[in-house]
Amino acid sequence: MHGSNFYGTIGNVKILAVSDQVIDRMYSLLPSGHFQDVDLILGCGDMPYTYLEYIVTMLNVPMYYVPGNHDPQDDLTDKRSRAEGGLNLDLKTELHKKLLIGGFGGCIRYRPDGVNQYSQQQAYLRAYQMLPQLLINRIKYGRALDVLISHSPPYEIHDDINDPAHHGLKALNWLIRITKPRYHIHGHTHFYRNNLETQETMVGSTKVINVYPYKILEF
Ligand SMILES: [Zn+2]
Repeated sequence: MHGSNFYGTIGNVKILAVSDQVIDRMYSLLPSGHFQDVDLILGCGDMPYTYLEYIVTMLNVPMYYVPGNHDPQDDLTDKRSRAEGGLNLDLKTELHKKLLIGGFGGCIRYRPDGVNQYSQQQAYLRAYQMLPQLLINRIKYGRALDVLISHSPPYEIHDDINDPAHHGLKALNWLIRITKPRYHIHGHTHFYRNNLETQETMVGSTKVINVYPYKILEF
């Protein structure tokens, strides 16, 4: 487990997940045929949309992403507020092959005028909006989610209590508890040590994975 991005297999779905940092190497890896066996791209936020668009154009597979605190407010009338070729999965769930994927954008509010920033209370209210869809999934498929993607980490997991901008969201702990996904992948917090324990944490039966700093995982 090393290198760049989260690259793995869930069932027989191969996923490339990117977050927070443009990897210049992508511009040479993709044209030379790397990642061609990827079935799905997941973006965990704070990525320039032009970069996501480049990846999705090169791989030509579905892409779901959530916005981060450095991304624009999603706006139907503004093309630049969205990554073309992808779907903003914020507060939505989607079925890809046999995989149920849910998305939760943004992070803790640390500036009054910040975009895609929420207080703990606001984040809970947003998470509650997902309940009807999660319930439908449970009735239809016997489970609420397989993969949860978010920009923020959960509270006290891979977050930084010494930095107001990098507190995790308690609503994500709650979502993990009620949906029990196999994987929760997130970005936002940056670790400079290549220490696996700080990038992967089991929460109940859910493996919480920090996509940053870009790594390759294989299951
Ligand atoms: Zn962020």
